Amino acid sequence: MSKTVRPPIAKAIDLSAPYFEAPTPRSADLVLYVDFDGVLQHQSVFWHPRRGVFISQKEAPGHSLFEWTHHLEAALVNYPDVRLVLSSTWCIKPGYGKALKRLPIALRARFIGGTFHRRVHSADPWALDSFRRTPRWLQIWNDVKRRKPAHWLALDDDVGDWPAEHQSNLVACDGNTGLSCLRVQAELRDKLEQFAGQDNASAG
Ligand SMILES: [Mg+2]
Repeated sequence: MSKTVRPPIAKAIDLSAPYFEAPTPRSADLVLYVDFDGVLQHQSVFWHPRRGVFISQKEAPGHSLFEWTHHLEAALVNYPDVRLVLSSTWCIKPGYGKALKRLPIALRARFIGGTFHRRVHSADPWALDSFRRTPRWLQIWNDVKRRKPAHWLALDDDVGDWPAEHQSNLVACDGNTGLSCLRVQAELRDKLEQFAGQDNASAG
C-alpha cells in the first residue's frame, strides 16, 4: 500500500502584511500637499446628493468654489518640478479623479496622487472611517513615509495639532481666507524657495 502524500503545510500567515502589495507611490524632490477647502476656496463647503459640492452662501456670501486656485498657480510658476499631492476629504468624496477635474489642466498635471486612494487603502467603510479620524498632519506624514520625497510642504487650514517637528513644513491658512491672504502667499513662496533652493545647491 502506497504512503499517503500530504500536501505541504501552508506557511503561517503574516498578519502584519497587507492583503496585496501596495503600488509604489510616485514621488518627487519637492512634494507640496494641497488641501482644497480653506485653501483654494472658503472653508464653508458642503455636499448635497443632487447639488453636489457647493459653498454655503449663508455662511460665506459671495464666495465660490476654487476662487483662489490662481494664487497657487502663480506661486508655482518658477518651480516646474514641484509635484502636488491631494490632501483633502475630496480624496474620499467625490474622489481623487473627479476632484482633479475641477482644476486647470496645467495644475492638474502636477498631481502625483492623494493621501487617500481607494485602490491603495481599500474602499471599505472601516478604512474610510479610520482615515477620516486620523489627524490631518498624520495623514500627510503617513504619505510622506510611503512616498519618501526629498522635501515636502503642506498647505492646509487644519493645523490645530500640527507637531512642532513638522512646523517648518507647514504653510498654515485661515479657512476663511485661504490662499487669498498675502501673508500665506509670501510664506508659500519663501518655503518653496527654501526647499527648491536646497535642491539647486546640492545639484550644483
Ligand atoms: Mg481644509
